[in-house]
Amino acid sequence: MSIIFGPINSRRFGKSLGVDLSPSSKQCNFDCLYCELKGAKVVDSFSEVVSVNSVVEAIKEALSVNQDIDYLTITANGEPTLYPHLKELIVKINSFKGDIKTLILTNSGTINSRYTQEALVLFDSVKLSLDCATKHCFKLLDRASKEIDLDSIKNGMLEFSKVYKGELLIEVLFVEGINDNRDEIKELNSFLLELNAKRIDLSTVDRPPAYAIKPISYDILHQLSLGFSKDLPISIATKQNLSGKKYNYSSSEILNTLSMRPLSKDDIEILFSQESIDRFNKLLSSDKFVTISSAGVEFFKPKESQ
Ligand code: SF4
Repeated sequence: MSIIFGPINSRRFGKSLGVDLSPSSKQCNFDCLYCELKGAKVVDSFSEVVSVNSVVEAIKEALSVNQDIDYLTITANGEPTLYPHLKELIVKINSFKGDIKTLILTNSGTINSRYTQEALVLFDSVKLSLDCATKHCFKLLDRASKEIDLDSIKNGMLEFSKVYKGELLIEVLFVEGINDNRDEIKELNSFLLELNAKRIDLSTVDRPPAYAIKPISYDILHQLSLGFSKDLPISIATKQNLSGKKYNYSSSEILNTLSMRPLSKDDIEILFSQESIDRFNKLLSSDKFVTISSAGVEFFKPKESQ
């Protein structure tokens, strides 16, 4: 049982130290088909609870040996907002963390609860997951506890987005044949337009899932990203083992592609052939792009489409 994991280096969050609020077993109010943990019966509360002091001591000890930590990422083998002392914990962490930022990753299942919102507003960054905007899809993919319904999640997300002053991030994870269709994208798009998110990460399964489902390819992920409004800060969350077809673009096709959806350097490296990357770099050095920074990630957009 280890409360601390990492540190992990990521382009988005720098050097991040992970904090697991359910270190001994999976305790989750969802049983997602794509979960990287073994499938388990859903629960609405933690039955195994580590004390706030144990978590705080573990963080302090880890910080004493790991210098230059940028983020403390609160997560769980399961759902961290089910931790019954979350508010007390974040108040304590905030009292000693100094310049280190805090991030919590949640499946949004309890976002409609006042207690969860009161705890989450105390984090520097909050990442809310939302894989489906229709009930049928939500039931099929996320398999939440009976106590949770999609409407209350959406209402909670809207309410939270109005009061939260920190960095609100959203993650949508796509699974082949379940939420990778036009109707779902249309519903997700209209809901996400109502939120005030700093960045919306589109991702897919990148680790062995609990159940027999499949990821979508990077090029499908890119195609899906084009179904979202240009006003949304959409980012394709790239993972190293995401492979797909490499596209060969002329200079005008590069400009056209990036005017439809700005891409990050990572996206470009995954999506473009080497020849196209060279063309992109040439366009970049001749000042054809502007960069937009969105919650720590730089995106490229042609100057004229600004
Ligand atoms: S919310 Fe996270 S931990 Fe819970 S079942 Fe889904 S993927 Fe697994």
